[in-house]
Amino acid sequence: MSLSESHKIKCTECGNGFEINEWNSINVEDLPELREKTISGEIFKFTCPKCKKEQIIIYDCLYFDRANKFMVQLLPEYPNKEYLFSAEEAKVITTFGNNIYRLATDYASFLEKVRVLSLGLNDKAVEICKSLAYSTYTINNNEIPENAFFVKCDEKVMAFQMMLKDKKPKFMSIPMEFYNKVKLNLVNSPLSKESFSIRKIDLKWALTEDVSKFLKELQK
Ligand SMILES: [Zn+2]
Repeated sequence: MSLSESHKIKCTECGNGFEINEWNSINVEDLPELREKTISGEIFKFTCPKCKKEQIIIYDCLYFDRANKFMVQLLPEYPNKEYLFSAEEAKVITTFGNNIYRLATDYASFLEKVRVLSLGLNDKAVEICKSLAYSTYTINNNEIPENAFFVKCDEKVMAFQMMLKDKKPKFMSIPMEFYNKVKLNLVNSPLSKESFSIRKIDLKWALTEDVSKFLKELQK
């Protein structure tokens, strides 16, 4: 079950009004072509038919992938606006089994989360590796990045992008060996607990006291 709705928007460039199609609910099982379109951000990009200016419109979007057992909710207005699953959505979601429910409140984090989970990665381990890349960058450069994002991984390394104020992003990599160690150790950690409520698992989470303790234990 996937839901889309049309809305009329006004072009930020020429003021022309035009219709856009917003995907408020995406079940990739029904529409596999929407996986790439979500990861690339294409579902949020619209071109004005009059002046051809592309605009990014961010809207509420619930993305679920039964095969990979995860669901990511984009709620730009959270916590002012919360999302309640429709009875039909709740019914579908509870059939997933042991799932991962994630919340994203901004566009870039939403795309990143869908990508990480679609790749079959453990997103908590990814965020922990990200926090290490972030802390290492901060110490070595005496500069605090504004944010950090997962870029890609191969057999050897996992790469992250450090977002810097008024500067080009810098890349940092973490050995895959370390990611695998984190993933393995998470299994028996209370940090791996999941529940049927959406949670924000991001850099901020990875920098909390509990996660720092876990990381310290690991590096002993
Ligand atoms: Zn226009």
